[in-house]
Amino acid sequence: MKKVMLTGVRPSGNLTLGNYLGAIKNFVDKQKQCKSYIFIADLHAITSPKDPQKLKESVQNCIAMYLACGVDPNKTIVFKQSDVLEHGTMGFIMTFQTKFGELNRMTQFKCKSQVAGKQGVDTGLFVYPTLMVGDILLYNTNVVPVGKDQQQHVELTRDLAERFNKRYGNTFVLPDVYIAPVGNKILNLQNPLEKMNKSDSGDNKGTIFLMEDLNSARKKIMSAKTDSLNKVKFDEENQPGISNLISILAKITDEAIQSIEKRYEGKGYGEFKKEVADKVCELLNKIQTNFNKFNDPDILDGIVKDGAKKATKTAKQTLQKSMRVLGLC
Ligand code: ATP
Ligand code: MG
Repeated sequence: MKKVMLTGVRPSGNLTLGNYLGAIKNFVDKQKQCKSYIFIADLHAITSPKDPQKLKESVQNCIAMYLACGVDPNKTIVFKQSDVLEHGTMGFIMTFQTKFGELNRMTQFKCKSQVAGKQGVDTGLFVYPTLMVGDILLYNTNVVPVGKDQQQHVELTRDLAERFNKRYGNTFVLPDVYIAPVGNKILNLQNPLEKMNKSDSGDNKGTIFLMEDLNSARKKIMSAKTDSLNKVKFDEENQPGISNLISILAKITDEAIQSIEKRYEGKGYGEFKKEVADKVCELLNKIQTNFNKFNDPDILDGIVKDGAKKATKTAKQTLQKSMRVLGLC
């Protein structure tokens, strides 16, 4: 039996190099070996208010970007979360299995609520992990490839599924998180103490978007914040900027970090950054060429409609099973 793999991205802006290296690339590498689902997490995008037209554009963009990054709709079920209504009900059920303290300790909530202050923060930001729990459990998922920032939410899913099974009898499959050893947290190039986010406001000088103009991407890498040690050494604590660039290069090329360090022994940052910029631009160029090939609204619509049909079948079964054990039907 093939393992079930599932992941998703919020259509909350243009996808970044962090989204690709931390989540999508790992999914694409494993899609053949698994029964694979990838979704556009549009319900998660409305955890804070969005311009409706922009949201629609982001959704379409996200589907085309999945294909451009190598997601194969013949091997993977690609769908939009809001097309499968079972997500809402399952999320609702799982919210009621969760303790306030469990959500209150989620670091993503702590980080994001700091900006608005707890009283002003949208409740969606507080409860979205339980929607994510529902997203994962609906498909009997075994493995969830995500970036490091989402690890805690997948672990919460496992805890809640285990608790539910103990209380009501064996209902849900317990999922494992998959965090790749390299590139699981790509940092902002201008502030290498923060994660690179697609929805950051500001000048975006530290963020590389997958659709970014190649000259602009090159400039961002060449002016990435580093230190004055001038040693290409992987040391996340003392050299976070340079370590981030080493991770980016290692993840794109599959070269071992130690081998990169060795090649750059006694050499300065200029030459190293140039290689990182070259490899990033090669990758973006390939993705952008594919994107333009796949970005046809009719074809994309056909793919997600077909995906929603297939996804709904499994989602319905799991939801009904959980409603039965709860005494709801
Ligand atoms: P947002 O700012 O809207 O939260 P995001 O860039 O964090 O955007 P998400 O849609 O929240 O993107 O996450 C999609 C996937 O990409 C998740 O698996 C997440 O862990 C991964 N991911 C996001 N940012 C990074 C990053 N900088 N490095 C590695 N993985 C990342
Ligand atoms: Mg995020």
